[in-house]
Amino acid sequence: MATPLEVEIRRRISMAGPMPVRQYMELCLSHPAHGYYTTRNPFGSGGDFITAPEISQVFGELLGLWAASAWHRMGQLDNVRLVEIGPGRGTMMVDALRAAQVVPAFRAAVVLHMVEISPALQERQRQTLSNVDVPMLWHESLDEVPDGPVIVLANELFDALPVNQAIKQFNGWYERVVEIDAEGKLAFGISNQVIPLFDQLVPRRMRDAPIGAIYEWRADNLPLALGRRLAHQGGVGLVIDYGHVESASGDTLQAVSGHAYVSPLQSPGEVDLTAHVDFEAFGLAAETMGANVTGPVEQGKFLRYLGIEKRAAALKALASREKAAELDSAMRRLLGEGPTDMGKLFKVIGLAHPSVGKLPGFEPEPQ
Ligand code: SAH
Repeated sequence: MATPLEVEIRRRISMAGPMPVRQYMELCLSHPAHGYYTTRNPFGSGGDFITAPEISQVFGELLGLWAASAWHRMGQLDNVRLVEIGPGRGTMMVDALRAAQVVPAFRAAVVLHMVEISPALQERQRQTLSNVDVPMLWHESLDEVPDGPVIVLANELFDALPVNQAIKQFNGWYERVVEIDAEGKLAFGISNQVIPLFDQLVPRRMRDAPIGAIYEWRADNLPLALGRRLAHQGGVGLVIDYGHVESASGDTLQAVSGHAYVSPLQSPGEVDLTAHVDFEAFGLAAETMGANVTGPVEQGKFLRYLGIEKRAAALKALASREKAAELDSAMRRLLGEGPTDMGKLFKVIGLAHPSVGKLPGFEPEPQ
C-alpha cells in the first residue's frame, strides 16, 4: 500500500516530471502533513534509530562542560545564548545543563535557545526541560535567535538536511531524480538536462570521476549562516555528525526503519532518510564567512580528549552490576570503531570567532 506521501509524490511527478532527489528527501522528512519528522517520534530503542545523547547521559554532560569551557575562552560574558539546533527529545541539553552546574557563573549567564522545525518535537523538548531553571525560548530557525554571542551545538542535524545528487555522464553531470518507472514503481533516474558548468563547481579531485559517479551537495545555507553569525557576532559552534572528512563521490542516501536499513524509496514519509555530511564542504562554507574552523576529529577521539573514560569510570564505581554492563556497552557504541559504532564514523567540527582561542576537545589535554 502506498503511503499518503507516496500518493502525493506520484501526483507531483505525473504533473511536473521527475523530482530531484533533494526535493524527494525534503518532502519525506518535512512535508507539513506526512513528513517523517513532522509526524513521528523516531528516537530511542523503540523508535527507528538511536543517537549519542540517547545512548548515554555522559555524551550530553561532556558537551555541557565543553560549552562552559568555551564560555571561559570567550571571556566569561555575563550573557550568552546557548543554542541547540535540531534537539530531538531534548535529552542532550538536559544532561549538558546538569553537568554545567559545576560552573555556576556560566549557568547563570545562559539563556537557552532551542531551534527546532517540528512542532511535535518542540513540545517534547519543553517537557524534557520543564524542571530546568534556565530561561529558554524556542525558534524555527537560527535567524530568529536574537543578536549577540552564541554557543551553538548540533548533533545529528546536518545529516537530516536534504542533499542534491548529481551523476556523471560522458558529457557532464546531471541531477539525479526520482521518477516512475515502466512498471509504475518509484525509481531513481537521471534528469534529461545537463547541469551547466558543473565540472567547475565540483571539488578539483572530482573532475576526473568515472561515468556513473555520484556527487552530493547540500544547497541549504546553514553552514554559511552559522559561519557568518559567529564571525560577525562572536561565539563558538560544535557540529557532530557522521560523514567524511574530505569531499568524495558516492551515494550516501540511506533509509532506516526500526533500526534496519531499507530502500530510500520505500514507504516515503515513514522511514528516516539521511545522507553523510561532507565536512570539507561544511568547513569551507563556514570559513568563507569568516569563522575559524577546527577539526574535524573523530567522535571517539573528541570524547576521550574531553575525559569520557574518567567520567564513565566514576559512574561505574557507583553503579549496580547491570548498570555497569550497560555503561560498558554504551561506551563501546560511542567510542568504538566497528561498523555500527560511532567512534570513527562520526566526526566533530568546531567553529569560532577568530578572537576565541583554541577550542577544547580537538587535541589531547596536557597531563
Ligand atoms: N540532536 C538530536 C536529534 C537528531 S535528529 C539527537 O542527537 O538525538 C534531527 C533533529 O533535527 C530533529 O529534532 C529534527 O526535527 C530537527 N531538524 C531537522 N531539520 C531541521 C532544521 N532545518 N532546523 C531545525 N531543526 C531541524
